[in-house]
Amino acid sequence: MADIEKVRCLIIGSGPAGYTAAIYAARANLSPVLYEGILPGGQLTTTTEIENFPGYPNGISGAEMMEDIRKQAIRFGTDIRYGIATKAELKPNHNIITIDGEKQIEATTLIISTGASAKYLGLDDEKKYAGMGVSACATCDGFFYRKKTVIVVGGGDTACEDALYLSRMCAKVYLAVRKDKLRASKVMQERVVNNEKIEILYKHEVIGLDGDNGVQSALLLKNRGESSQEEYSLPVDGLFLAIGHHPNSGLFAEYLDLDAEGYIKTKGATAQTNVPGVYAAGDVADPSYRQAITAAASGCKAAKDAERYLLANGL
Ligand code: NDP
Repeated sequence: MADIEKVRCLIIGSGPAGYTAAIYAARANLSPVLYEGILPGGQLTTTTEIENFPGYPNGISGAEMMEDIRKQAIRFGTDIRYGIATKAELKPNHNIITIDGEKQIEATTLIISTGASAKYLGLDDEKKYAGMGVSACATCDGFFYRKKTVIVVGGGDTACEDALYLSRMCAKVYLAVRKDKLRASKVMQERVVNNEKIEILYKHEVIGLDGDNGVQSALLLKNRGESSQEEYSLPVDGLFLAIGHHPNSGLFAEYLDLDAEGYIKTKGATAQTNVPGVYAAGDVADPSYRQAITAAASGCKAAKDAERYLLANGL
C-alpha cells in the first residue's frame, strides 16, 4: 500500500464553512488540505441568489459566492482537491481518512464541514422541476415568487417559518400538512393560523407537479386511506419543501457524539467535538440556523480552534 499522506489540517466539505475554515487555516500556516466532496461549493450552489449575506448590497449567486470564497482559500495556499471521504477512523492526532475508497490521509487536526441535505418527498417531478418551481430554501428563493402563489410542505417550525416568510411577498401561501395537526411550536402555529395569506391544508400530501416550463399546479392527495380520499390539482407557481434536513454525519457516527437527529455535537461556543483535534462546522453541526453566514463563522471558529490545539500541544 502507498504511504499515508500526513497533513496538519484536513478539511472535509466545501460550503461556506469549509472554505472559510481553509482561509483561516491557510493564513495561520496550517497548510490545509480541503476535499470538496460530492457537491463542490455545497448546498448554496443549488440556490439562485443570496441576498442576506452582508457585503453584497446587490446580492450574489450562490455559485459565484462559493467560487469567490474558494479562490480566497487558494490565494492563501489551501490545497483544494476533488474527492469524497469514504471512510473515517478518528483517533486524537492520528485521524485516518480514506478518500474515494483508495487514498489514505492521516490528519493531525480534522475539520468536518460536510453540510446537511434537505429532505425531498422523493417524487420524480421534484427532479423534473428542480430550479423551475421547486425549492427547499424559502429564504434563498422566496423573492422570486413575489405576488405569486406557492405551496409549502411540512408541519414543523421550518415549514411555519417558511410559510410566514413567504407570506410577506407572495399573494397566497398554502401549507400542506400530512397530519391533522402541526408539529411546530405553539407560537409558530398561532402566527401561521392567524396569517390571512396562509391557508393550511391538513391531511394533504403533494404527490405530483405539472406545468410547461415550470410549475403551474400541484397534484394533491387529501385524506389518504380514508373513504373521503380524493386527488385534485391546485394551481401554484412554486413548491417549497420544509420537511427537515439530514446532516451528513454518518461517516463519523461511530466516533463522534451526535444529537438525536444526527447533528455533530460541539462543545460550548467552540467547534470542538468529543475527539480532541476534531472540529465540526456549518450545517453538519447546526440544527437551528443553517445560514451561509453562520456556517462561515463556524468555519472560522474551527480553524482557530485547530490552530490553538496544534500550538498548545506542540504539534
Ligand atoms: P421537523 O422534523 O420538526 O418537522 C418536519 C415536518 O415535515 C413535520 O411536520 C413532518 O410531518 C413533515 N414531514 C416529514 N416528512 C414528510 C413527508 N415525506 N411528507 C410530508 N410531510 C413530511 O423539522 P423542521 O425542519 O421543521 O425542524 C427541525 C428542528 O429545528 C426542530 O427541532 C425545530 O423546532 C427547529 N426549528 C426551530 C425554529 C424556530 O424556533 N424558529 C425554526 C426552524 C426549525 P409529521 O409531523 O407528520 O411527522
